Amino acid sequence: MNLEEYKGVYVFAQQVDNIVNSIAFELIGKGKDLAADLGTEVTAVLVGSGVKDLADELAEYGADRVIVVDDPELKEYRTEPYAHALASVINKYKPEIFLVGATAIGRDLGPRVSARIHTGLTADCTQLDIGDFPLNPIPGKEQKHNQLLMTRPAFGGNTIATIACPDFRPQMATVRPGVMQKREKQAGVKANVEEFNPGFTPNNNYVEILEVVKAVSETVDIMDAKILVSGGRGMGGPENFKMLEDLAEVLGGTVSCSRAVVDAGWKPKDLQVGQTGKTVRPNVYFAIGISGAIQHLAGMEESDIIIAINKDETAPIFEVADFGLVGDLNKIVPALTEKLRAE
Ligand code: FAD
Repeated sequence: MNLEEYKGVYVFAQQVDNIVNSIAFELIGKGKDLAADLGTEVTAVLVGSGVKDLADELAEYGADRVIVVDDPELKEYRTEPYAHALASVINKYKPEIFLVGATAIGRDLGPRVSARIHTGLTADCTQLDIGDFPLNPIPGKEQKHNQLLMTRPAFGGNTIATIACPDFRPQMATVRPGVMQKREKQAGVKANVEEFNPGFTPNNNYVEILEVVKAVSETVDIMDAKILVSGGRGMGGPENFKMLEDLAEVLGGTVSCSRAVVDAGWKPKDLQVGQTGKTVRPNVYFAIGISGAIQHLAGMEESDIIIAINKDETAPIFEVADFGLVGDLNKIVPALTEKLRAE
């Protein structure tokens, strides 16, 4: 493999039902940083049927170029034709870096593509940088420069590993949604579009989709919420979450929780914030009866404003909080809700 042939940062622009997933914009944002370090550009790869019109939106978030693979076979996500589309793009364009969101689709697709093109993939990354590998010189071992350093929790989150792929290209990673920052949208920017279709043979043996049943949720995904009212073990029991729901209602927010709450069976897993839950970045994050364990902080410390309520003034949550209230949440939360309701 001639590594010199491989150039540019490419990101998979995931869309479903012609709506681009936010992870695509996040990957473009991070891709711009990596591309700046390498002196190259960011290309978004848009795959689907009738999706060309979405290309401008990708440009508005910073994509320098958009490769569109448009075919009726790609209308709904199926592993085989999507893996064929991406592997073909990679074989033709030879990117140096290829990023995919660690969504349900990306977790399925990324490893299939990397296996087809015989390169490695680091899954569920929380940080990406350009640097030297090995990180520190080792006598007798060549240190390669300008490598993609892919960082992710390992061994059940008990350590953080930095991984590189110095001998193969592209360097591939799936990236956790909500961790990387999107760029400000530049309305009106037009995409530099290139169409590419590797061909999809008729009478193929792709899986046939008989029906798509959409999940119906009455609550806002905590990753989209602007205000989160998060409860921990200090709530004392599931019945006390009514207090948080009342506060969330007054604020127009959504309830979330720590892992201790999920483990106790008080709340479902999709409300869990943290390293093994969701990464959130709301405008305001209330941490109520949450101690502030490192694994919890990993999922919420990028919030704009953090307000902590805890009876223990030495709780680590106060180290990241912008505002802290020391006292019994059973008194503070209802009083706060009442005061806000009165205003
Ligand atoms: P606790 O640590 O028990 O804290 C409860 C807090 O409530 C205390 O600070 C206490 O002072 C306060 N309190 C009690 N009563 C009151 C009251 N009446 N008024 C005010 N304050 C009160 N955790 C996560 O949250 N998310 C994750 O994704 C996650 N992933 C993990 C992954 C791994 C591999 C491991 C090992 C752990 C993970 N954890 C995660 C668990 C984490 O280490 C902590 O155990 C967990 O976050 C603790 O939850 P908590 O803060 O709700 O409970």
